[in-house]
Amino acid sequence: MYKGIAASRGIGIGSICRLIEHDLSFEAKLVEDPVAEKKRFQEAIDSFVKDTNAMADDIRKNIGPKEAEILLGHAVMMSDPAMSGEMFKMIEGGQCAESALTAVCDMFIGMFSNMEDEMMRQRASDIEDVKVSVLKKLLNIKDVNIRKVAPGTVLVCKDLTPSMTSQIVKENVAGIITEVGGNTSHSAILARALEIPAVLSVPGIVDAVKDKDTAVIDGTEGDVFINPDGTVLSKYLIKREEFLAQKAELEKFAGKPTVTADGKELELFCNIGTPRDAKKAMECDGEGIGLFRTEFLFMDNASYPTEEEQFEAYKEALETMQQRTVIIRTLDIGGDKEIPYLGLKKEENPFLGYRAVRYCLDNVEEYKIQLRAIIRASAFGKAKIMVPLVTTVDELRSVKKLVEEIKEDLRSEGIAFDEGIEVGCMMETASASLIADLLAKEADFFSIGTNDLTQYTMAVDRGNADVANLYSAFQPSVLRSIKNIIECANREGIPVGMCGEAAADPLMIPLLISFGLDEYSVNPVLVLTARSIISKWTKAEADELAAKIMAMDSKDEIISALKAAAK
Ligand code: PEP
Ligand code: MG
Repeated sequence: MYKGIAASRGIGIGSICRLIEHDLSFEAKLVEDPVAEKKRFQEAIDSFVKDTNAMADDIRKNIGPKEAEILLGHAVMMSDPAMSGEMFKMIEGGQCAESALTAVCDMFIGMFSNMEDEMMRQRASDIEDVKVSVLKKLLNIKDVNIRKVAPGTVLVCKDLTPSMTSQIVKENVAGIITEVGGNTSHSAILARALEIPAVLSVPGIVDAVKDKDTAVIDGTEGDVFINPDGTVLSKYLIKREEFLAQKAELEKFAGKPTVTADGKELELFCNIGTPRDAKKAMECDGEGIGLFRTEFLFMDNASYPTEEEQFEAYKEALETMQQRTVIIRTLDIGGDKEIPYLGLKKEENPFLGYRAVRYCLDNVEEYKIQLRAIIRASAFGKAKIMVPLVTTVDELRSVKKLVEEIKEDLRSEGIAFDEGIEVGCMMETASASLIADLLAKEADFFSIGTNDLTQYTMAVDRGNADVANLYSAFQPSVLRSIKNIIECANREGIPVGMCGEAAADPLMIPLLISFGLDEYSVNPVLVLTARSIISKWTKAEADELAAKIMAMDSKDEIISALKAAAK
């Protein structure tokens, strides 16, 4: 078995067609007639632009306008004087077209591939793709016609470029395996858009296989089998059927509201880590953002991000979500999340130390920058502020006081914001849970962070494999804590959500329905799964199950009972 990056879900079984790279070497020479060489180069560019635009057209029709933009960008790139002008100048100086093309493209590739930003680095592979395509035109090289491969083909290549992907006929390609490319590479994005199972970054796969070998690929797990035996083959044939049946079932929930079997409407939000993820939340049918982890802004920066930088990031997420709720959690550093420029000292017990709201309230001027950026961004959508790691009512009061001060400043400066912006409390410590009744009087909403609530309730480091057997949200103590938090919120009449991983756990969902959770915030890819599970339970059924579960005294017994009751 080969292991790679699981880039596009599903099981692909088929016959291999290798897309071998051509020898693109050429002899760099000085040309005698630069005018004729310029003409030859212009013809190559024209032919490239024509083909590329035609491919973009195909993509627009078969996949969508967003994906077609990648290829249109390639055509535009070659027409950009900053790129081609420089190449023509080199040809005028006597270089051959191949050398001029390679030199200028390599210069840009070098520049972009050293950039921090993933999107910028992606530009480097776009330029490489353009370079290779134009070079093939100049060298008169014709590729395998991907458009014509037989049904049930698994494509194996070093890298699947956007121009190659654009020729794929979805019905004929059962899977894709490459040697390079990550989860966010264009090949991954396009494979997902085409819904073709794909495993990327499998080292040496091109040389390890032959045309017509049988390949089984599991794009959900990142596994690849070449010429597998009958047992593996039948196992994956069954898995493929199951996957397809499940997918068809889930698709029925796209674009639908989230309702229980007895008609109670609930909110199904997404957890995101960057403003760009908000697009993913929208694509996956998320109804809002239940947790925007803002740490990325701080971790990806060399210094404390300015108010403007933060404002732009929050505004982008809010605008993307188009008036749907976006709960922005203020900085949650410390514990396992380090930020070098803050210069925090090493602690004996970082999870119990100087972190999250404790750090923020001790560095008020910095904290006010973030709060002000969020409050300003609230003019562009439905923002809510969420405070992490609360253990006392005073902490929440202090944050609310800062929020009021900032609102006053903004009013006097004539800057727009949402006057009604809510301040909520993450419920993720044992202390918060035990004083949930008191916190509910002070908070506008609760969101239960089961990842930490489990850690702090069980006294189990969430990252320590040696004690992982204890780390479970199904421990009776954690379940009692969750139930108490939800009941306190319900009693006080404030909304209560859950943004820890447990919110998407099919076994946990019936319990949450019974306890009265209002909002579920999950990884975008799990939205439809969670919606489908929620739709299967009535409150009465969930209550009956919860009554049995809450009387049990061991997590193993609880999990078995939940599995037995699962729908
Ligand atoms: C949690 O603790 O459950 C949570 C959602 O926050 P994080 O995982 O970022 O600590
Ligand atoms: Mg947490």
